[in-house]
Amino acid sequence: MNETGAAPIYERVALIGLGLIASSMAHAMRAGGLARHIAGHARSAGTRAVAAEIGLCDSIHETAAAAVAGADLVVLATPVGQMGAIAAEIAPHLAPGATLTDVGSVKRAVIDAVAPHVPAGVAFVPGHPIAGTEHSGPRSGFATLFRNRWWLLTPEPGTDPARIARLRALCEAMGAKVDMMEATHHDLVLAVTSHAPHLIAYTMVGVADDLGRVTDSEVINYSAAGFRDFTRIAASDPTMWRDVFLTNREATLEILGRFTEELFALQRAIRLGDGEHLHAYFTRTRAIRRGIIEAGQDTAAPDFGRGTGPGTEG
Ligand code: NAP
Repeated sequence: MNETGAAPIYERVALIGLGLIASSMAHAMRAGGLARHIAGHARSAGTRAVAAEIGLCDSIHETAAAAVAGADLVVLATPVGQMGAIAAEIAPHLAPGATLTDVGSVKRAVIDAVAPHVPAGVAFVPGHPIAGTEHSGPRSGFATLFRNRWWLLTPEPGTDPARIARLRALCEAMGAKVDMMEATHHDLVLAVTSHAPHLIAYTMVGVADDLGRVTDSEVINYSAAGFRDFTRIAASDPTMWRDVFLTNREATLEILGRFTEELFALQRAIRLGDGEHLHAYFTRTRAIRRGIIEAGQDTAAPDFGRGTGPGTEG
């Protein structure tokens, strides 16, 4: 029984990878009494030692295979490029009736890499919490990371509805709002809302660095929220983001192609002094911002309301 008097949703949850997302899940599951036992595994002894030191899980295992034994929920929470190999390693050790999920920022490539290894009797329900910060590692997690954020589930047709519903209940109990989405569509949506913007932030910070001025006090002092936000986003984990771009290649290239066209159009408008074009464009984009605030996905506060909150989700 947990604090609310309800039974845990899962008996044994195995977290493979113990970074920001997995550690936030561990805290949120603990806080809500949502799992009777949380087993954890990370690749390096150093990360496993930190997780043990802070008491993140009930048990820490040297191998992913040992962590998943007897688990009714297994969560892949590593960079997406690792997930196929981990699925191959754990497949023979998954309990019949278990649910396998992941939290990767890209969905189609993860399904292609993981699904072929999933044994009969195990349901694979891919997922993506749209919540994050620029911090990583087992110490970076916190129980409220998912509160009021979307958690997208992208199961293939034919997946057992009961096991999708159970995973959905866990995500909701951790505070998230859950939606279902087709995996390829997910990747296109996220290319627009997250992946391309991250690449633009990396580029902008790179440009400032090339100018040799990014660490100049005047750049930092006089930077409005725009550039400061870019530097925060561009501080996100390099391995995670390398894998996002390598695995969501098509959708990201599609969006960047469109972005480049629009950028050239604006560049041309500036060169030609076409104020009408610029004004009309900025009016359209302003309306989108208002829509985001009205939908409750951000606040109108200065600094984008992110003083302590989430911000750089992948
Ligand atoms: P993170 O903080 O960088 O942690 C990654 C973890 O994965 C580390 O514990 C690492 O262990 C472990 N790991 C890496 N390769 C492994 C392997 N082969 N076997 C076992 N463990 C391995 O990562 P994160 O930010 O939590 O991201 C995890 C996943 O969530 C990614 O797929 C990412 O796309 C997705 N996601 C991230 C965000 C975000 O904003 N950060 C948001 C939504 C979804 P070591 O330390 O031992 O290397």
